[in-house]
Amino acid sequence: MIKIAENVFKLEKMLVSQVYLIKDGEQVTIIDTGFAGEYANIKNQLNEIGIEPENINYIIITHGHMDHIANLKKLSKISGAKIFVHADDLERIDGKADPAQINLLEGGEELDILGGIQAIHIPGHSKGNMAFYAKRSGILFSGDCLFNNKGLSLPPVKFNDDTELFEKNVKVLSEYDISIICPGHGPHIEGNCNQRIEDLFE
Ligand SMILES: [Zn+2]
Repeated sequence: MIKIAENVFKLEKMLVSQVYLIKDGEQVTIIDTGFAGEYANIKNQLNEIGIEPENINYIIITHGHMDHIANLKKLSKISGAKIFVHADDLERIDGKADPAQINLLEGGEELDILGGIQAIHIPGHSKGNMAFYAKRSGILFSGDCLFNNKGLSLPPVKFNDDTELFEKNVKVLSEYDISIICPGHGPHIEGNCNQRIEDLFE
């Protein structure tokens, strides 16, 4: 488990996509759930900072692609956590969570985590693709809006439902004052974040 900022952590050794953890007082939130077969790694890393999967209160899903939701079924069942997902990706998590646990988002909501996390709908990667912005700390959990596998980039077009739509919508990220980017893939980035994002749109 790597500490990224006060109350914000990144799980290590994830196979494909990143999983982030926010510990805000007693409230535990994870953002995305990793790839198939990673449950044991997730559990072990939570344990490193004294958390059990049962203690998770909120599970935020950036989008419903397989590499981000593979452990949702197990984590949602064991924790009973409230799940936040965009309505347009609901069908992608079908069968992975008790409907009573699911809170549908449209974009524009503010989640009561870390003093306010804004939900930003950026359709095109998937229909219900989202990014989440922690307004007090300026941390952007970009989901797959941004990759950082070989330097910061937009997602490879082969993974988008509709690249034209995505590239039009993703520009909204430049409206946020970003201190740290926590991407869906690759390491986090600190410093000069807005400029780096602007450069992608040129
Ligand atoms: Zn992904």
